Order: sequence, then structure tokens, then C-alpha cells
Amino acid sequence: MRMRLCSFCVKSGILCQKCQEKIETGEINETYMRIAKELIKFEDKYTSIQKISLNNVYNVDNIIILAV
Ligand SMILES: [Zn+2]
Repeated sequence: MRMRLCSFCVKSGILCQKCQEKIETGEINETYMRIAKELIKFEDKYTSIQKISLNNVYNVDNIIILAV
């Protein structure tokens, strides 16, 4: 899966400077991180997830919208 954060950062939850900056500037939101982390877990099981790129995640009225 292609993401806008490094997969290492998403998996570990420890962000490198580059990813940290993206969060701080609001380019990437917390929801994005949360969803990316969940999706990574399913990557091995569902190969279709490997092919997508996660562009953005929105949380609108508690409905999660994935932009892929
Ligand atoms: Zn990173």
C-alpha cells in the first residue's frame, strides 16, 4: 500500500521528522494515521490493499471516508 507516511512510522507509531512535520502542518491528520495502521495489518491477507494508495482520510460526522 502506498501511503503519505512511511510504513515504518505508521507501524511503530514513532514518527520520523518528515512524518511529524506532515502531522504538524495538518497535511496528514490523526485519523489518517489510525486508518493506515489498521489497513497495514490487513495487507498480508488481502492483496488488493497492497495495490491501493491511501491519499487521504476524512472523518465526517464519525463516518470515515477513504480517498484512494
Ligand atoms: Zn516517517
